[in-house]
Amino acid sequence: MRNQRATTVFGVTAAVAVAVYQFLPDVRWLLTAVQVGIGWASGAAILAGALRMPRRERLPWLCFAAGVLCNSTGIVVAAAADVWFGLVDLPTPADPFFLGLYPAVAGGLAVLIRRRDPRTDRAAFVDAATITTGFGLLAWVYVIAPRNLGDQMDRLAHATQVAYPIGDLLLIALTTRLLRSGGSRGVPFWWITASLAAFLIGDSAWVVLGNMGDAGEALATTPWIARLLESVFLVAFLLFGVAALHPCAREVAAPADARPATLGRGLLALLAGASLIAPAVLAAQTAGGRVTDGWSIAFCSATLFLLVVTRMALLLRQVERQAEQVRELARSDELTGLPNRRAWNDELPRALERARRDGEPVTVAILDLDRFKHYNDTYGHPAGDLLLKSASAAWHGVLRQADVIARYGGEEFVVLLPAAGAEDARRVLDRALAVTPLAQTFSAGLAVWNGRETSDELLQRADAALYAAKEAGRNRVEVAADQLSRVTA
Ligand code: GH3
Ligand code: MG
Ligand code: MG
Repeated sequence: MRNQRATTVFGVTAAVAVAVYQFLPDVRWLLTAVQVGIGWASGAAILAGALRMPRRERLPWLCFAAGVLCNSTGIVVAAAADVWFGLVDLPTPADPFFLGLYPAVAGGLAVLIRRRDPRTDRAAFVDAATITTGFGLLAWVYVIAPRNLGDQMDRLAHATQVAYPIGDLLLIALTTRLLRSGGSRGVPFWWITASLAAFLIGDSAWVVLGNMGDAGEALATTPWIARLLESVFLVAFLLFGVAALHPCAREVAAPADARPATLGRGLLALLAGASLIAPAVLAAQTAGGRVTDGWSIAFCSATLFLLVVTRMALLLRQVERQAEQVRELARSDELTGLPNRRAWNDELPRALERARRDGEPVTVAILDLDRFKHYNDTYGHPAGDLLLKSASAAWHGVLRQADVIARYGGEEFVVLLPAAGAEDARRVLDRALAVTPLAQTFSAGLAVWNGRETSDELLQRADAALYAAKEAGRNRVEVAADQLSRVTA
C-alpha cells in the first residue's frame, strides 16, 4: 500500500515537472537544474526501489540507477563545460557521463534477462539478432558511415560520435531479448520497456535533428523542439524510477516457469519490419540515383536471410519434437504407462506379419480382473486405480523380454506372446496370476494364431476363451478352441 503511494507520488511529481519544463523561461541554469533534478530524483527512486528488495535481487536495479545517475549528471557537466570553459566540440567532458548509460543499463538488462530465462533460448537470441541487424544497417548507413567521411574530425571525436549509435544498438538488442524472455509481464516490465523505448526514440530524434541542422533546416534549431527532445529523456528517466518503485518491481526478475516464450504480434511485426530495412535502404538509395552502401546492404541482407533460415530450422525442429511427444502420448495409457489400445491395434498385425515371415507361433491373451467392480465399490475408485497400476506393473515384471502387454480398456489387458505356443503362454500367465497384488485375481483367455485369421478374429477367439474362464469360476486361464477361425475359413 505504502509502496503504491510512493510510486504514484514520485510518478505524478516527476510528470508534472516534465510538463512544467516545457514552459520554463529560457534560462540555461534553470533548465539544467530541472533536468538534472528529474534525472537524479529518478536515479534516487531506482536506488530506493532496489534497497527495498532482498540483497541478491538488487544488482540489475543498481545498474539501472548507475546508468540514469551517470547520464543525468552528464547534463550538468555539459552545461558547466559549455558555460565556464566553452567546451562544445566533441568529445566534451559530458560525453563519458552520457555514454555511461549504455554499459550500465545493458549490464542491468543482461542480468534481468538471465534471471528471467535461466536456460539459453536460441530462438529468442536469433530474434534479437534479426532486429539488431536490421537497425544496425540503418545506424551504419545513416549515422556511422557518414561520420567516417568527415576527416576534419579527430579520432576521439569520431569515436565518441560513433559510440552513441553503437550503444543504442546494444540497447535495441537487449530490449528485444527482454521482450522475448519468458517470465512475468506486469506493470513494471512495461515501464522498463517504455523507458528503453524513450531512450531509443530520443537518441534517434537527436540524430535526425542533427542531420537536419547540418542541412540547414530551421526546424532543427527551434527552441521548443529542443525542449521537447530533452523531455523525451526526462520521461525515460522517470519511467525507470516508476518501474523500480512499483510494488511488483521484484517480479520483473522472477524466473519464468516452464513456458515456451510467446512470440506476440507486435514482436512479429517488429521482426518483419527489421527484415525489410535492408531492401528499403537499397530502394531509397536507388531512388536517390546513387547506391553508396551496396556492400553493407548485401552483407546485412545475407545475415538477415541466414538468421531467418536459422529461425525456421529451430521452429521445424521444435515442431518435430512436439509431434514426437504427441505420438508418444497418443500411444500410451495415462494411468498405467502401458501401451494403449491404439498402440496395440498397430502392433498386433505387425506381430502376425513377423510370425508369418519367420514361421514362428504367436499367442495373444486377454486378461480381465475378477470382480473389479466389487473392489471399487469396497475400497473406492482411487484404490481401484492403484490396483490397476500395481497389477499391471507386477504382470509386466513376469513377462518374457519379447512379450508386450497393453491396456485394452477399463480393467482389461491384452498380452502379445511372440514365439509362444499355448503351453508356454499358459506358463507365463500363471506366473502373472500368482503375482497379482492384494489377493486379487484375473481371468484370461488365450488364443494361438492359426496362421490364417486376422487380428480381429484372433482377438475374438481369445475373448471367447476369457468368457469361458469367467463362466468356469474365474481366477484361471482358458485356451481358445480353433472354432471361430473354422467358422470364417
Ligand atoms: P468380472 O469378474 O465379471 O469381470 O466382474 P467385474 O466387476 O470386474 O466386471 P465389470 O465389467 O462389471 O466391472 C468392471 C469395473 O471396472 C467397472 C468399472 O468401475 C471398473 N473400472 C473400469 N475402468 C476403471 C478404471 O480406470 N479405474 C477404476 N478404479 N475402475 C475402473
Ligand atoms: Mg471387464
Ligand atoms: Mg472384470
